[in-house]
Parts: sequence; structure tokens; C-alpha cells
Amino acid sequence: MIHYGQISVSKKFVFVNLAVGGYNSGINHGIAYLVPVVKRHSYEVSCINIMDQMSPEEFYGKVCSLEPSIVGFSSLSHHLKYLRMYSAALRSRPEILQIAGGAGPTLDPESAFTESALRAVCIGEAEKPLDNLLKAIEENADISSVEGFWWSLPEGIRKNPVPQFVSDLSTLDFPDYSVFDRDLACDNSALLVMLSRGCPNNCSYCCNKALSGVYPSGKGYFRLPSAKYAINLLKRLVAEFPEARFIDFEDDLLIADKRWFEDFARRYKESIGLAYRVCGRSEFIDKDIVAFLKSSGCKAVYVGLESGNEHFRKTVLNRQYSNELLLDRCKMIKAAGIGLFTFNMIGLPFETKSHMRDTFMLNRRIKPDMGVCAFFYPYKGTRLYEICKQQNMLKDESEMLDIANYRTCPSIKMPARHEADCLKYYKRISNYLQPPRFGSFSPAANFIMRRRLLYAAARVAYRISGLRLVFIYFKRYRDRARF
Ligand code: SF4
Repeated sequence: MIHYGQISVSKKFVFVNLAVGGYNSGINHGIAYLVPVVKRHSYEVSCINIMDQMSPEEFYGKVCSLEPSIVGFSSLSHHLKYLRMYSAALRSRPEILQIAGGAGPTLDPESAFTESALRAVCIGEAEKPLDNLLKAIEENADISSVEGFWWSLPEGIRKNPVPQFVSDLSTLDFPDYSVFDRDLACDNSALLVMLSRGCPNNCSYCCNKALSGVYPSGKGYFRLPSAKYAINLLKRLVAEFPEARFIDFEDDLLIADKRWFEDFARRYKESIGLAYRVCGRSEFIDKDIVAFLKSSGCKAVYVGLESGNEHFRKTVLNRQYSNELLLDRCKMIKAAGIGLFTFNMIGLPFETKSHMRDTFMLNRRIKPDMGVCAFFYPYKGTRLYEICKQQNMLKDESEMLDIANYRTCPSIKMPARHEADCLKYYKRISNYLQPPRFGSFSPAANFIMRRRLLYAAARVAYRISGLRLVFIYFKRYRDRARF
């Protein structure tokens, strides 16, 4: 049993957002949704945002200067090393209650406890469990029995049941981004927002399915708030950040429910009217969706291409759509004058050089305005992780701990020659997808083109203005500059 009297009495809560490396923008929507929960209990809330490594001593100093009674870490799987390191840095301050949450600790709580000084790990979404924990502290009740948390106790790990996730997102308080730097929340005049949770798809490498499995029932894990709630939230954010000129929806698939999106797009056009970007997926894109996107001001759709080999994509990644469908939907987006961005992944189990070439070639057929290529990472709890484990493809834990992003090298074991091919295709695809994309097959030709005065001018404009929309206009430069 642990009681309130055994931890510090100050009412200060410090979130720690582990965002070292990777593609994390530094904004953690999960934390933003928890800030009002903590404030409701009259805590002073702050956040230490770790985007570049800091020494444990520096971290210790920062935390101590804030004098918290509770420190809440938010971590992804590949930030485990930092979670352990920074938590251990506070070991000499047992009066601070250290807890952790996020996808990493949820999917692998035992690893989070190992070598850290964490007292508890929150499994799944934290709105309910954190509220109950703070209530238990106020009532001086036994906090180690709060549902949704696993506790590290002298006798071992206490695994409390996980409550069902909040099914109606419209009942949640609006997220509060005030704990983040203003420049991060509204990055280069682009406001970062997340409205939904989960995804209706089941890709074998994605942690969404595994995350839905921690609850008594995973049914209905993909959730959208009511369109009215979403618009009210956006109105509030736009009022808070009047400098916003663009909305960057970081949702996995905001367009998944056509009727919802139609209603949302209509209200968005009437009440918000800012240009925006969303993620899309070919099976969910049709003429109607493109029309809703276009009429509501969408300027870019980010589509997951992932692997260009259809058979490989279907069988290994469990993404069941054809190349023809993908090409057709991308064409629809471009025909509507909406910018197109592709997500690509290499370094996958069973992937061959020919598959990587297919990914490159499919991008060439689609001709997106921009895109990104990342190395596959085996997230614990996913089907591909299990397959990698069975096939002895997982690297040693120490090697995995050093992988803090998706850009450095392949994350699974492979022969040196194949690793060299992965790196080559990673560069080739990334190079091709950089704005402005000149459409040349040859990396050498691209290299020369990139030194052209026209390109330099466009890039400087992009950097200086910081406007994401500028990339759309790169097309004009690209088309003029094409061989
Ligand atoms: S579509 Fe994206 S978010 Fe959805 S399951 Fe697949 S990888 Fe995950």
C-alpha cells in the first residue's frame, strides 16, 4: 500500500515529454489532453520537453528547480533508454512520485520499470487513471490500487486492471497546449492538432492494434469526437494562436468516417477556414472525400505508400489495397489541386532489394509533391515484432536502445550487404521526395539540379518564410527545371 503521506506534499506536476530525435514535432497531444485533468486537481503544471539529449545532471537540476510532487514521463518505445536514464536521475528524490505513460510503457511496462526509478506505469490512455490517482492522493487512500496503473512494489509488480477507454471523446476537456513552447504548438504558423484516437486499419507493424488490446474490449478503439466538439476545439485554438495560418491534423485517419468528415468539412469551412493538411489512405479516398477536402481548404494529403510492392505490402504489412487503387486515388488528389505527400518505409523483414526498388519506382509513377522515407522499427506488441522475434531478426536490447529515430539505420538484423542496399535506397527515396522534386531517375542528376540557382532561391524562400504551403508552389519551379 502507498499513501499520499509517503510522497511530497507540494501540488506541482511536471510532465516530461521524451521527444529526442525521430519525427516528433515536440508537441505531445497526449500530455495536452492530460493537462486539464491535472489542473482540475489544483496542481501547478509544467512540462520539460526533451527534444535534444540533455545530461541526467541537467535534467535533475531542471526538475528540482520546479519542485514537483509528481513527475509524469511520456515515452514512445524507442525512447526507453531516455526514460530509464532520466527516471534514474531522480532516484535520490524518493519523495517525488515518478509515473510514466505513452505507447512505449503501455506496450512494455516491465522494460520501463527495469533500471528506472519509476513507481508506476499507466497502461493505455491516462485521462481516467490519472484523475483517479490524483483523487486517491487527495483522499490519502491507497494509490497502489488505482486502476490503469502497474506499480513497482518491494514484493514485485502490482498489475491493476485497465479501465475501458473513454468511448466518447466529446466528453474530454479541450487539450491545453500552454505547457509547450508557443513556437512548437504553432510551428511556423502551422497549428498542430489531434482530434481522433486510434485507426480503423490493422497494419502489421503499427502499434494501434496492440494499444487497443490492453483494454477489456478493443471494440470501438477508433474514435472521433462529435464534429461540433471538434470545431469548438479548433475555434478555441485558433483564438489562442491568432498567428496560425495552417492546421496540421496529426490524426491517423480523420477521413475514415465519410459522413462524419462531410459534416466536419462543412462546419470547418464555415467556422475555421484555414488551410490544412490531413493523412489519407487509398481505400478511404473517393470522389466525395476529395470534394470535401477541396471545398474545406485542404492543401495537402499525406498518403501511406509504405512499400511499392503490392504482394509484399499485402502479405507482410497487411495493407490490402492494390497499386492501381493507390495510383488512382493519388491522381484524384492531384487533379483537385491538393498537394500530395507519401510515407515510405524500408528495412522491413523479408524485404528484398527489388521490393525497395518497387517503392522507389511507385513514387516515381505517383510523382508526389513531397514525401518521407523511414526505417521500419519493430514495436513490441505488433505482429511484425513477433515475426521478427521468431525469425531471430531483433537486434540486442543495447543496440535497440541506441535507435532513437527512424532515419539512422535499419532497426532489425540483416546481412551487411542488404543493410548497405537499405541505406542506399533510403537515401535515394528520400532524395527523390525532397522538395522540390525534379523527377530525375538519376541521383547524380538530382544532385546537379539541386545546385541550380532556381532551386536555391526556392529553398531559401521556403526556409525564410517557413510556410509549409510554399512546397506546393515548388511544383512550378520543378516543372520549369525538369530535364
Ligand atoms: S493506417 Fe497508419 S495508423 Fe492505421 S493501422 Fe495502418 S499504419 Fe497504423
